[in-house]
Amino acid sequence: MSDDLLARHRAVMPGWMPVYYGDDALEIVEGSGRRVRGADGRTYLDFFGGVLTNMIGYDIPEINEAVRKQLATGVVHTSTLYLIRQQVELAERIARVSGIPDARVFFTNSGSEANETALLMAANVRRSNQILAIKNSYHGRTFATMAVTGHRSWSSSSLSPLNVSWLASGDRLRGRMAGLSDGDILDAAVDDLREVLATVTAGDVAAMIAEPIQGVGGFVAGPDGLLGAYQKVLGEHGILLIADEVQTGWGRTGEHFWGYQAHGVVPDLITFAKGIGNGFALGGVAGRADVMNAVPAISFSTFGGNPLSMAAGTAVLDYLLDHDLQTNAARTGAILLDGLRELDLPTVGEVRGKGLMIGVEIVRPGTREPDPAATVRVFDECRAGGLLVGKGGLYGNVLRMGPPLTLTEDEAREGLAILTGALARVDAEARIG
Ligand code: PMP
Repeated sequence: MSDDLLARHRAVMPGWMPVYYGDDALEIVEGSGRRVRGADGRTYLDFFGGVLTNMIGYDIPEINEAVRKQLATGVVHTSTLYLIRQQVELAERIARVSGIPDARVFFTNSGSEANETALLMAANVRRSNQILAIKNSYHGRTFATMAVTGHRSWSSSSLSPLNVSWLASGDRLRGRMAGLSDGDILDAAVDDLREVLATVTAGDVAAMIAEPIQGVGGFVAGPDGLLGAYQKVLGEHGILLIADEVQTGWGRTGEHFWGYQAHGVVPDLITFAKGIGNGFALGGVAGRADVMNAVPAISFSTFGGNPLSMAAGTAVLDYLLDHDLQTNAARTGAILLDGLRELDLPTVGEVRGKGLMIGVEIVRPGTREPDPAATVRVFDECRAGGLLVGKGGLYGNVLRMGPPLTLTEDEAREGLAILTGALARVDAEARIG
């Protein structure tokens, strides 16, 4: 790094803020398409996109133009106390694509705030603060969203404004569902839910919150239909379903526009953020009108739905629909998934995912034991080869790939070659060592 930015970061930011690549932390100074340039002078193909946030990519003329046009009006922010045309228009469009009949939309600045809002509305309409959450989930860093985050390293307070009960995740490698067939996982999940409802809740649960595919948790997905199986039981009790689409929304999974659609459900509320702003601070909730209207006091957001984010969000939505990025995610994702699955290495415990949301579990050769140290080695080797990927999972042993949905087939192959090379080298090392 050209100056002591990492030292300054460490001196002024709180110690709990993680930074990738340790002493070799990366400052990204330029971006174009799916590539970024670091302050280290190197160019990288970006398969993580700021944690699945740069959904369209970097320096996209259509998005830049929309934001510039808004800036040219001189209005970056007014207040949601005034009418904001772009906000109403984007809300109308998101309500239409949400799949929720007669949806209402409220904009926030982040995914955490979106989930906080959804939980608040569910608690209000149901007059209960009991929530069902899934182990290994991530829903944000605010007080309530941390309470439903089932991943200890991200949940830094045991004090909770919610009364949370936990359900098993759909992890096929470890925990309650390990080794089960998809059909058996569905049955076991329903049994788990019924047991939790009968034993540890007081019978007035407000909502279940779930990620259709767990993001931070390491791209863990239960079988298709899992949320549908849950919803049958939830429906018997009037319990609401909140689908956290912060990572899975907008076509990322390739086969559907929303992650929830793989489950044969229509949630009562969905939350979104990340990709829809392509870097601008934009999140929100779309949900059933009766639930969305349930907050008893008036409420607003100073920055949520600001004209600049709305201009970006509208341009992103236009871009992804005009270019059918969902189909592109399916096509390029298949190149990655097929290539990774062909590898068949003893240190690769599982290759999983859908579309451009792909996880690789690194384990000790031939076992299911997580190997976070080997994961770091693959992660570092990828960077050395010019590829940025993510890392995550409960045990820190999952490589996460979530490139922009504009990824080309050539770029998919280029990244795949770097990734498979890194995996093969670390695999050989692990077997010798
Ligand atoms: N939900 C999910 C599924 C997420 O992945 C994240 C962020 N990683 C959040 C919520 C929180 O979003 P934000 O960081 O914008 O608050």
